[in-house]
Amino acid sequence: MNWTADFPILAADENGNRLVYLDSAATTQHPMQVLNAVVDYYTKENANPHRGVYELAMRATDAHEGARHTVAQFFNAEDDEIVFTQNTTESLNLVAYSYGMNFLHEGDEIVISVAEHHSNMVPWQRVAKATGAKLVYMYPGENGRLTTEELDKKITPKTKVVAVAMVSNVLGLRAPVEEIVKRAHAVGAVVVLDCAQSAPHTPVDVKKLDVDFAACSAHKLYAPMGVGALYARAGLLEKMPPFMSGGDMIGAVHESGATWADGPRKFEAGTRNVGGEVGFAAAIDYMKGIGWEAMETHEHALLDRMLAGMRAMPWLTVYGEPVAEGRYGVVSFNVNDVHPHDVATILDAGGVAVRAGHHCAQPLMEFLGIGSCCRASVAIYNTPEDVDALLENLENVRKVMG
Ligand code: PLP
Repeated sequence: MNWTADFPILAADENGNRLVYLDSAATTQHPMQVLNAVVDYYTKENANPHRGVYELAMRATDAHEGARHTVAQFFNAEDDEIVFTQNTTESLNLVAYSYGMNFLHEGDEIVISVAEHHSNMVPWQRVAKATGAKLVYMYPGENGRLTTEELDKKITPKTKVVAVAMVSNVLGLRAPVEEIVKRAHAVGAVVVLDCAQSAPHTPVDVKKLDVDFAACSAHKLYAPMGVGALYARAGLLEKMPPFMSGGDMIGAVHESGATWADGPRKFEAGTRNVGGEVGFAAAIDYMKGIGWEAMETHEHALLDRMLAGMRAMPWLTVYGEPVAEGRYGVVSFNVNDVHPHDVATILDAGGVAVRAGHHCAQPLMEFLGIGSCCRASVAIYNTPEDVDALLENLENVRKVMG
């Protein structure tokens, strides 16, 4: 199957050339189905939800709550366990500020991995500083994966929060979520799962995984920027105070103070990005139409092809075990002795877009002993030809740079 034709930005130009887009871990492109859903919303349903009693406002409210239902089903959660946010970053900050700042104390420990994206690290650094809790880092083994020994060493009776990415945005490897949850729950800690890089590629069934919080960004799964979701296990949102306050998150406001709306609305202050939410729901429907099995098979084959090509390049280093098993979306690498920005610039001249930099994971870069690296990431619209174009252009980098 080839899904590229659904994505107008990837259409070939008049010379038959088309962009080889291998930066989907940063943001994905959008299929017509999502673009049409957003245009439809703005042409037929746009109004401020939860405000007016006129029919159009009701339709906007239905679009907003309907999108929540689709996102809830995507996570196998209940509707009132899903908070709409701007992105993964806001979702994780919501947990850190509302849960972390209020329920952690000196003597408690927060466990994260050194491979976390800054969005799942800096908020916890701030919580630790403000509450006196200790931030404990887990380190991957030689192959880039967290070992059970490391989990046993770092998750202890002092642990109150374990916050990890299900899939690292640099190493691309799936964390042993089930093992983490088992150990965290045994000591009464909550598990916060950063699903920014897993939700586009593999099911995140929060009930099956038994996590307490899960965060994702719509723009990484074929939907517009500016909308994300936080799953919070039933009961948790009730005990957490609001993160932001203002319109639509209140029960009632008096000069003497305010009470809060029930459920997720307590955390949805101000006018929402309903057009984005509609796009989010349309993207989930689009992915559902393809099916997880087809998506995983397609992307796994692309990663397998890419890694096989890279393993045959002795002058190139892949970070994390260079195999497709247990890997989703991402391959990070360096061409030895060539700056990643030079590599990415030469690849761009060949029509191949990859990301180069520290990938918002500076402590991981330090752990790996590098300043930065290149990252090629795939999505459903990529083809084996895209992978071959990357590999051919990498050979060219080696030739050009000596
Ligand atoms: N967590 C991970 C693992 C990511 O890869 C990213 C973005 O790249 C984020 C969090 C932050 O996502 P956003 O910028 O959409 O908030």
